[in-house]
Order: sequence, then C-alpha cells, then structure tokens
Amino acid sequence: MSETPDQAAEALRRGELILLPTETVYGLGADAGNPEAVAKIFEAKGRPRFNPLISHVADAVAAESIGAFDDKARALAEAFWPGPMTLVTPVKDVRRVCDLARAGLDSVAIRVPGHAGARSVLAAFDGPVVAPSANRSGRPSPTTFADAVEETGFAVAAAVDGGDCPVGLESTVISVLGGAVSLLRPGAVTRAEIEAVVGPLADGGEGHRSPGRLTLHYAPDAPVRIEAVEARDGELLLGFGPGVGDPRWSLSPSGDLREAAANLFRLLREADRTRPVGIAVSPLPTEGLGEAINDRLRRAAGHIG
Ligand code: AMP
Ligand code: MG
Repeated sequence: MSETPDQAAEALRRGELILLPTETVYGLGADAGNPEAVAKIFEAKGRPRFNPLISHVADAVAAESIGAFDDKARALAEAFWPGPMTLVTPVKDVRRVCDLARAGLDSVAIRVPGHAGARSVLAAFDGPVVAPSANRSGRPSPTTFADAVEETGFAVAAAVDGGDCPVGLESTVISVLGGAVSLLRPGAVTRAEIEAVVGPLADGGEGHRSPGRLTLHYAPDAPVRIEAVEARDGELLLGFGPGVGDPRWSLSPSGDLREAAANLFRLLREADRTRPVGIAVSPLPTEGLGEAINDRLRRAAGHIG
C-alpha cells in the first residue's frame, strides 16, 4: 500500500506525518511551519528536541525565501542542488520554519532533494517540509520503502513508495554562517567536491555547532565492530572488495564506494535480522565518499561523539 504525492501533500496540510522517498534515505515528513505536526516527528522518532531538522524545498528560490544566502551559499546551491547537500544559513522566515523545527536556533538547515518522489510531494505541498530520516532515533536509516514502513509507518497518514534510495546515506551538511564554510556532517557530496567550489573548508568553528550528532547513532541491535579483518565466532562479516567475505554480505564485491554507500544501511538491517553475535565490517577507504561511510560506521559502532 502506498499513497500518491498529492495525497501526501494533503496529509501535510492536515498536520499529519508522511513517509517521503528521497535520494539519500526515506524521510519522516511534516509541514515545517506547523509546530504540532513537527512535534509528532520528535515523538514518533524518540528524537531529542535539541536536534534541529532539515527543511526540504522544491528549488533554490524557495530555499532563499526561508534562509539568507551569501555568495558562497549561492555557489554551493548552484553546484549541488537538486541533490544530497544541506546548507545551514541564517533563518529568514521563522513562520514557515517554526522554532521547534530549528530547535530554537537562529539558523535553518535547507535542502532541495533531487528524487522525483520527493520533488512531486514538495511541488504539490508548496512549502518547506521537515523530513529527518524515518528511523526511530539512534537506529540505521531506512533506504527501502519496506524498512521505512517498519520503522515509523505506524505514525504516518500517507506513505509514498519511491523505490530504493539510490545514494543510501544522509546528505552532506554544510554551515555557511558568518562567511565561513564548514562541514557539519560528511555525506554523498564529498569534501573535495565542496572545496572545488568554495575553496578550503574552515576547521572546527561552526563545525562544533551541529547539535544531535549523538555518540551511538545509525546502530543496529547487534554490536558493530569496524575495520575487521575477518569475522570472529558468531559474527557476520560485511565485506568490501574482491574476495573479502561472502559476496551476499558484501557492501561492494568490486570495491566501489558508491555501491557500498547504497548498500550500507540495508545490509546492516538485514544482518541484524539474522541475530548475529555481532556485525563485523571490513576496512573501507577513507577518501571521497569513504569519509561519510566511515563516519556512519564509527557512530554505528559507538566510537565517536
Ligand atoms: P537528520 O535530520 O537526522 O538527517 O539530521 C539533520 C542534521 O542537520 C543534524 O546533524 C542536525 O544537527 C543538523 N542541523 C539541522 N539544523 C541545523 C542548524 N540550524 N545548525 C546546525 N546543524 C543543524
Ligand atoms: Mg537521521
């Protein structure tokens, strides 16, 4: 069972939640300007209220109506939207992105998604839609419709089936506050791609101002052990590259990082269902998309705060 983008837009107007397909992961969506609707997201996910949400809009014009863009923000928007990149800018419209959606901050996180399903819903709704990953807080993000329904389907009035999410990792979050550009969360748009547009990224600074990057995040029930050379007794190994582990459980048998990103959360979930003693994951390159994949894996393993 799945609803149409028009039905989803109707549900948003009624102040209800929806499951929204995007190229990154499935989102749990609500009208960003409706505090009661936004509260339902925090409730359904069990998400701490200090962790602000990303507002999704149809295009750069809509983005500039809710956030204040400087030249660097515009250059990034031009280069990577529609796509898996989120910009944190000073907030301009506190009515259409309510306080709760921003966790009370004077900044707003904005993304223009590229997925046809998300774009149809945003066009039909005609306003910002907050849509964090549709998992319950702390768990791996859903990248298939079935996984999204399993996680938070109980809370929604409409669920739009957009197939499997092609990117499979959450968006790159970039702060463009106060003239400095810094990376708050690595994602599918890589550090090198960002630096090619705006020059070297600022170190630290605003980077410390991303609330909600909790220590244990993206985690299945089974403990995750990273940079594992082989499986120990009772562990299931997620391999990477030719000849490493069972191909059925490989993130990418050929060693392709895009494929590994697209498979990561789905395989963590499927591995969990076999009730292993633990999930071991092979080492992956740290360059390019590897930065984001390793970030998620370290958090799934509980390694960094
Ligand atoms: P999620 O919705 O789970 O994909 O997470 C959204 C990410 O964007 C979290 O890491 C938030 O902390 C971050 N974020 C959202 N809004 C802001 C903001 N105004 N300032 C800094 N980080 C933000
Ligand atoms: Mg999330």
